[in-house]
Amino acid sequence: MQPAHLTLPQPLNLIGNHWVPARAGRSMPVISPIDGEVFASIAESDASDVDAAITAARQAFETGDWSRLTAAERGRLLMRYGRLIEAHAEALAQLESRDNGKPIRQARADMIATARYFEYYGGAADKVHGEVLPFLNGYDVTVHREPYGVVGAIIPWNYPAQIYGRTVAAALAMGNTMVLKPAEDACLSVLRLAELAVEAGFPAGALNIVTGRGDVAGKALSEHRGIDFITFTGSPEVGVMIQVAAARNFIPCTLELGGKSPQIVFDDADLDAAMPYLVNAIVQNGGQTCSAGSRVLVQRGIFDAVAARLAERFAAVTASASDEDAVLGPLISARQKKRVETYIAEADAPVIGRGQIAADTPGGGFYVAPVVFGPVDPASKLAQEEVFGPVLAVIPFDDEAQAIRIANGTEYGLVAAVWTRDGGRQARVAKAMRCGQVFINGYGAGGGVELPFGGVRKSGHGREKGFAALYEFSQIKTVVNNHG
Ligand code: NAD
Repeated sequence: MQPAHLTLPQPLNLIGNHWVPARAGRSMPVISPIDGEVFASIAESDASDVDAAITAARQAFETGDWSRLTAAERGRLLMRYGRLIEAHAEALAQLESRDNGKPIRQARADMIATARYFEYYGGAADKVHGEVLPFLNGYDVTVHREPYGVVGAIIPWNYPAQIYGRTVAAALAMGNTMVLKPAEDACLSVLRLAELAVEAGFPAGALNIVTGRGDVAGKALSEHRGIDFITFTGSPEVGVMIQVAAARNFIPCTLELGGKSPQIVFDDADLDAAMPYLVNAIVQNGGQTCSAGSRVLVQRGIFDAVAARLAERFAAVTASASDEDAVLGPLISARQKKRVETYIAEADAPVIGRGQIAADTPGGGFYVAPVVFGPVDPASKLAQEEVFGPVLAVIPFDDEAQAIRIANGTEYGLVAAVWTRDGGRQARVAKAMRCGQVFINGYGAGGGVELPFGGVRKSGHGREKGFAALYEFSQIKTVVNNHG
């Protein structure tokens, strides 16, 4: 099954610009979701590897070559790295698709976005500046934005390269150094990207990668006294542990924990424009997207018409690994497939429509046919819990007030969309949404390097992307100069 040209990273960690095996000599297998076969291995690190990586990052931050770079030099380096990623985008996409199972088209788009993070934050590195404040006579007050120091990052498997890009580019642009632990379920693109970082010329210790299990290497990183900040993207359950560890360490953290994001379709909406977004937002990446549009709220008068159009579109979606144009691949793991199938089996709502699995998919792969349910009770499990699969819940509503109540009626709050031609309603509903990002007549699951992104409540806190991420990865120091 392996494409002949696919070269695989070795099972090694990157520490101080050296590729080294886990100190205990252990490695763990990597399974491809496409066929369920082991096709590579990664280092299975423990606390001693994490400790070595943090020591390298600390040294780079305090006395290494990294600490002497100007903001402009950091920016230039990040931009050079972005161009290198672009030049290797096709090979990276092939690797990502094999490792994560995502359709090659999605993997290609991910690599363009990954390169773009380094271009964007490279350009921004020397444009973050402080302030001068008015104060008493005889004083000058300056407010400085400074890096935290060593940033710990734990990222998930759904968009390994993209989330690596959004985290690393912003943290390094601000002058921090990093230890990043990617997810054991998919991290080969991250290892290849780290090889390119060394090639681009990042000084030793600026970026360190340690692979392994979450409950061993991830836990050790989150609890280590040597980090100054931690950023996490993944499940709410682990998010709680990260926040507790950060509290014990008296350090800040950002958490991005997924969602149950609604798209609200009013009866004056342009349905031709809305339909592709309603489908793509849940089918993209197999629904394994933190900002997946997993609930569609439809005004009752057009419910049947929207349901019929969704049924038709879902029927046209085929999960496949062999089709170059496929929009849906396998899910990440046997565990995730089982989890999604359980939600489908236990759904207490009629099926509006289903897609299918291509006849030629390998037997051992983790394929699930997409399915759309409705009308779904807004209080039900299907409408409340993050499935993280290609499963859409369609919920009817009567008026604007009820739509807002249902949209805000989960523990999550990441993204929302409102589909209406009424300008006043667009503004009112956008204002009423309790979440971090609202689209009006559009939806951008996972998109927009420039757009601040993050959640409220169970979706987490802190903002990534855009300039907001630079502010997250920096702290303020106020200098009061009494010059008389
Ligand atoms: P997870 O939270 O266990 O894994 C995410 C990352 O955290 C991985 O790198 C993992 O190694 C690490 N990790 C796991 N346990 C840890 C610990 N004790 N301490 C420190 N790090 C740890 O997610 P999962 O189990 O792979 O997926 C479960 C569910 O989480 C999914 O079904 C989905 O609902 C949600 N999820 C959300 C996102 C997102 O983008 N918000 C991403 C992945 C998963």
